[in-house]
Amino acid sequence: MPRDPRYDILFESVKIGPVTARNRFYQVPHCNGMGHPMPSGVASMRGVKAEGGWAVICTEQCDIHYTSDISPYAEARLWDDRDIPALAAMTEAVHEHGSLAGIELTHNGLHALNRMSREVPMAPSDIVVENYDPIHARAMDKSDIKALRKWHRDAALRSKKAGFDVVYVYAGHGLSMPMHFLSSRYNHRTDEYGGSIENRARLLRELIEDTKDAVGDSCAVAVRFAVEELMGPGGITVEEEGKAVIEMLGELPDLWDVNVADWSNDSTTSRFSPEGSQTEYISFVKQMTSKPVVAVGRFTSPDLMVSMVNKGIVDFIGAARPSIADPFLPKKIEEGRMEDIRECIGCNICVSGDSTITPIRCTQNPTMGEEWRRDWHPERIQVKKSDDSVLIVGAGPAGLEAARALGQRGYTVALAEATTQPGGRVTLESQLPGLAAWARVRDHRLQQINNMTNVTIYLDSRLDADQIREFGFQQVILATGARWRGDGVGRKHREPIPGHDGANILTPNDIMAGKAAQGRVLLFDDDHYYMGGVLAEKLRLEGHEVTLVTPAADVSNWTHNTMEQGRIQTRLLELGVEIVPQHGVAGLRSGAATLACVFTGRTRDIECDTVVPVTSLIPNNALYQSLVADSSALESAGIKSVLAVGDCLSPSTIAAAVYAGHKAARGLDEAPVEGVPFKREIPAIEC
Ligand code: ADP
Ligand code: SF4
Repeated sequence: MPRDPRYDILFESVKIGPVTARNRFYQVPHCNGMGHPMPSGVASMRGVKAEGGWAVICTEQCDIHYTSDISPYAEARLWDDRDIPALAAMTEAVHEHGSLAGIELTHNGLHALNRMSREVPMAPSDIVVENYDPIHARAMDKSDIKALRKWHRDAALRSKKAGFDVVYVYAGHGLSMPMHFLSSRYNHRTDEYGGSIENRARLLRELIEDTKDAVGDSCAVAVRFAVEELMGPGGITVEEEGKAVIEMLGELPDLWDVNVADWSNDSTTSRFSPEGSQTEYISFVKQMTSKPVVAVGRFTSPDLMVSMVNKGIVDFIGAARPSIADPFLPKKIEEGRMEDIRECIGCNICVSGDSTITPIRCTQNPTMGEEWRRDWHPERIQVKKSDDSVLIVGAGPAGLEAARALGQRGYTVALAEATTQPGGRVTLESQLPGLAAWARVRDHRLQQINNMTNVTIYLDSRLDADQIREFGFQQVILATGARWRGDGVGRKHREPIPGHDGANILTPNDIMAGKAAQGRVLLFDDDHYYMGGVLAEKLRLEGHEVTLVTPAADVSNWTHNTMEQGRIQTRLLELGVEIVPQHGVAGLRSGAATLACVFTGRTRDIECDTVVPVTSLIPNNALYQSLVADSSALESAGIKSVLAVGDCLSPSTIAAAVYAGHKAARGLDEAPVEGVPFKREIPAIEC
């Protein structure tokens, strides 16, 4: 299909100082959990995005010096010349597809705890660090500032050597030295670097000027600047620092990449903010500078992108997450393949790669982070190796992705689903407050499958082992999901909670199936991801008194990894949910529960009419077990293999289920790999 002419404006080239971007799609810097320890993985991942049509592809933050060591986090590094080749691998991969490569040079200031380098952290003033490490940063004197400027300049020169086209000065996310100088809460200086906004912005100005001077002849110099921190007094605000900085420095760099800090405000999940939520904060910038402006907002709708450009809010459509979920988003718009776009669902599982220091993963795009180590491409897959037909049982995220990918390989696929609706847990969970966007996991796959003549979905088709053996498929994949337990077994209680059978229990499945809670609700969250918090919210919104008890120190503890924890706990508190942290449930009986402190074991009773245990899941693996228990029956039915994937093998995230379905599809008919089934980046030994 030809491109819709309405979107032509997105494909105009845009000059950024001495370089030109071929279109308006701009992958802003984003972390990926691979960083300097996995340069081949990073290079392939970035190269795939260039292939997918992003005109500018940036690194994650790149630490310019060993005093900016944020170990153990895996970011890019440019400490000396020896770091150049790893970054050159990325610029080569990006240039191969005609895109520009950008590098986000960073000194992390007081956020660099220097755990590995064991240097003393530096800051504008003597100040304790932000996290709870027992460390203080020391105030920089003039010679430190001079040294910092030299490190930044050297890093800019090294960036040019590595082949970068766009070199950043980073003053974003509250994480970098120029922003620490700008912030009155960190900068208590009385010299020319403190006090007035002109003084607090001096270091930023100098770094921009130094970078222009060092590499500005051939590289564009960009500034990433957080115009707002959403924290009120002490924070950067649009009205104070935001406007003043753009007014003072607006014409100095070649591009402004503007956003809202901190990272959790910049990459807010769809549960807490819609597409384009930063626009109200950043829209003033373009009116105050003639330089191109890029901003993010989880943009996946081409109409919104066009309107952002037409309204004069941005010149470039910035994206981290939409480029992760669909590295080929620009190409698909360009080729008029709108229905093929794999829209980001705003879940921030991608962020968890950074926070857990493991290669980035994505709920929507199972190939993300696997481009180099497994040679997976988001759009291409190997053709089928046999004429076997495949039966997939269960149309949740695992079954749908397996069916889609096997269909793409050319196999004849039947996907049987017990209920009248496809989507499994995604269909159920997307009905919960704030999770509507999660239905995109189902909808994208259905959209693709509907265009495949070789894949058929059978709804309302609960299959048993006899039927599966009778149908005559050669390959069977079971994706039958999992169900929540009702007895409280989880991490804290490895045995059923005494008295659970005498209490009015509702499992998450019961609630999602529409069963109503009675009266006062005790929700026991020993799962620690989103389910406990989101059900507490739902039940409270329905008017119940809700007490959320958890053995953890805070609500939905794992969501620290998706940067949602603060928002979840705030929302629950504001709704009036009572939160009882660091307690287990010692016993249940009709109308009451006994809670026990996880430290002292001291107990206390609370009244409750309904108990909702959100503790752990039981895989629906009975069908799998009955099939594999009788290998001769399988053989006589002509079934060559039976595989369990997703939650029916091991209940986990939706991302894990999609990944498992994808992996099963790629692995069908492939000989098992001897040894480690993916490539690894082995550290070099220096002699
Ligand atoms: P996953 O996350 O692993 O994809 P889900 O729980 O989301 O798992 O989806 C599993 C799907 O399998 C559900 O839609 C469920 O209705 C379906 N299912 C379970 N058992 C059967 C069966 N015996 N026959 C057909 N479908 C089944
Ligand atoms: Fe979007 Fe979730 Fe993928 Fe991140 S993991 S890119 S938020 S779909």
